[in-house]
Amino acid sequence: MLNIVLFGPPGAGKGTQAAKLISKYQLVHLSTGDIFRANIKGETDLGKLAKSYMDKGNLVPDEVTIKMLEAEVNKNPNAKGFIFDGFPRTTPQAEALEEFLKSKGTTISVMLALAVAEEELIKRLLLRGKESGRADDADVEVIANRIAVYNKQTAVVENFYAQQNKFQKIDGIGSVDEIFNRLSNVIDKYSVNRIS
Ligand code: AMP
Repeated sequence: MLNIVLFGPPGAGKGTQAAKLISKYQLVHLSTGDIFRANIKGETDLGKLAKSYMDKGNLVPDEVTIKMLEAEVNKNPNAKGFIFDGFPRTTPQAEALEEFLKSKGTTISVMLALAVAEEELIKRLLLRGKESGRADDADVEVIANRIAVYNKQTAVVENFYAQQNKFQKIDGIGSVDEIFNRLSNVIDKYSVNRIS
C-alpha cells in the first residue's frame, strides 16, 4: 500500500494537493476536517461535539478523532492506499495510527510536509473564508488560534516521522502544478522503495 500523511499548517494547500494526488495515484482521501464538516452538516452527535471545538479553532479530542478516522479506513477495505489530510495532528494520533495500520499489516510510507510562511497562510485562509463560507476561515482570531495550535500541538508530529526517516519537507509556495510536481517526485521515490 501507499499511505501518505499530507502535513502542514492550516492554509498550506493540503486539500488542493490531495485532490490531485488521489487521482494520479488512485488513493482514498481521508480529511478529518472534511469528515467533521460533513457531520456538522448532517447534524449528528459527532458533528455537534466537533463544532464546539472547531468554531474556536481548537482540536477535537484525540479519542473521538482517532475512533472516527479508524472507522473511515475500515470503510475502504480494498483501498490501494490512503492520503491522510489533517491527521495525525498530535503525537498520540500518530502513535494510534501507527498501531492501527500495523494491525492491518501496513504502515505510513511517507509524510509530505508543505512549508508555507505564516503571513501567506493568513492571506490564503482569509481569501478561502470569503470564497467557501467556512466560518473558521472568516475570523482573524480563530485563524490566529489555529496557527498557534498547529505550532504548539501539531508541528511536533514531524519528529515522529523524521525518526523513521519518513519526513519530507516540500516548498509550498508556487503554482498548484509546481507544488504537485514536487510532491509527485518524492512520492515516486518512496513508492519504488516501499515494502508493504
Ligand atoms: P481542517 O479542515 O483540516 O483545517 O480542520 C478543521 C478543524 O477540524 C480543525 O481546526 C480542528 O478543529 C478539527 N480537526 C480536523 N482534523 C483534526 C484532527 N486530526 N484532530 C483534531 N481536530 C481536528
